[in-house]
Amino acid sequence: MGPDHDALTGLPNRTLLRDLLSQAIANCSRDNRPLALLMLSIGDFHELKGVLGYVEGDKVVREVARRAVRDLLPADIVARMDDDLFAVVLPEAAADRATAVAESLLRAFTQPIDLSGLKGSPPIKAGIALFPGHATDADVLIRCGNIALFDAEQRGEDVVIYSSQLGKRVARTVSLIGGLPRAIEDNELLLYCQPKVHVADAVVCGAEALVRWRHPQEGLIGPGEFVKFTERFNLISPLTHWVLDAAFRQAYAWRQAGIRIPLAVNLSAVDLRDPKLIDRIKGNFATWGSQPEDLQFELTESALMQDPAGALEALSKLKSLGVRLLIDDFGTGYSSLSYLQKLPVDTIKIDRSFISAVTTSEQSAAIVRSMIDLGHALKLEVVAEGVEDQATWDRIAALGCDVVQGYWVSEPMPVGEAGDWLMQSRWHGP
Ligand code: C2E
Ligand code: CA
Ligand code: CA
Repeated sequence: MGPDHDALTGLPNRTLLRDLLSQAIANCSRDNRPLALLMLSIGDFHELKGVLGYVEGDKVVREVARRAVRDLLPADIVARMDDDLFAVVLPEAAADRATAVAESLLRAFTQPIDLSGLKGSPPIKAGIALFPGHATDADVLIRCGNIALFDAEQRGEDVVIYSSQLGKRVARTVSLIGGLPRAIEDNELLLYCQPKVHVADAVVCGAEALVRWRHPQEGLIGPGEFVKFTERFNLISPLTHWVLDAAFRQAYAWRQAGIRIPLAVNLSAVDLRDPKLIDRIKGNFATWGSQPEDLQFELTESALMQDPAGALEALSKLKSLGVRLLIDDFGTGYSSLSYLQKLPVDTIKIDRSFISAVTTSEQSAAIVRSMIDLGHALKLEVVAEGVEDQATWDRIAALGCDVVQGYWVSEPMPVGEAGDWLMQSRWHGP
């Protein structure tokens, strides 16, 4: 096997794929025939590798390669482009065959893969780009395929075909993200917060800090549109530093005003790998004279699972500051009971997707009940996020949940307004 093949799967690598695709495009273009490019990714791959280890991760990759090749024609080409990214070139294929092949590949992955006794089928997503409709050169066609795949991942679709609107949308995101460092300097970010309420006495017991961006042209932009991309483009640190500074400042203002509720800051997977983060946080505690009970930190389950050992170390350091730690979006990741037990966390926050269904689906209610019981068995506090109405509140309360957050209590508001809101709200203590 040459240097232009991937050692693990024996498939052509990225460099060879580019040459093969250029040749295939040249052939098809000579006879006015179409060609399709499929980009495939293995969903949650880094998380999966974190949990099951590299050996099992490699097994998944080999299995994906094997199944991808299985149903193809001899002229079709499969390549491994990256860790969890594959490309399939279908010479002479138009949109119909491209879609059919993508769907049959996805179907092949509904059969579970055997992983150290655990059977699972990783979610495979596909993006399709077509020659000559979308692009006439290999690099641009690959970019179109990647954009379509990215869109599939973002929206949770199985297969997405590239379109020029999609291209424009992604270009907008890229230029938006590119402007973030300037936006931070120009103070265009805003800190919002959303209250949390104790179920037992219906009194506010904390708040979560949520960032917003007031863009001079685009208006108010929610974190869903930039936080995830910020992580990918390595811009999360300046964002986190801004949020930390704003949150400590606010916690200080609340303390001065006699408001004694903790403000919880969201940290990302990338933040956990930042060796300077702890010092930054310690510096903030010293600067504002904050107490450990003034601040909390929320870490998503999937962030923890990307590198369980590293996350445990980072969490232990955070915990040594005396703050409470929460696992966010609980139930959406792969964490195991034995791992959970090792983590120095105080609270689990059940993901909104389970909560919003408790009044309509008995199955969701059963899952939420078992998550609450699990949390309590581990002596953890349990928060339900995304409670939007009285019926959900009642159900969640009956299931024994400790704390509720959601539009039913309040939508997120600018931190500066929270003090007044609290004084006037029905969720204010005696
Ligand atoms: P999250 O940590 O899960 O935050 C909760 C999100 O759910 C917030 O969206 C909030 O506005 C929304 N939400 C709250 N209650 C309800 C409800 O009853 N119904 C519905 N449908 N939604 C509700 P938001 O503010 O758009 O934030 C989205 C995500 O962005 C957050 O999800 C968090 O993961 C991330 N994020 C926000 N601020 C920061 C930050 O400062 N740093 C980092 N790393 N991530 C942040
Ligand atoms: Ca959160
Ligand atoms: Ca959440």
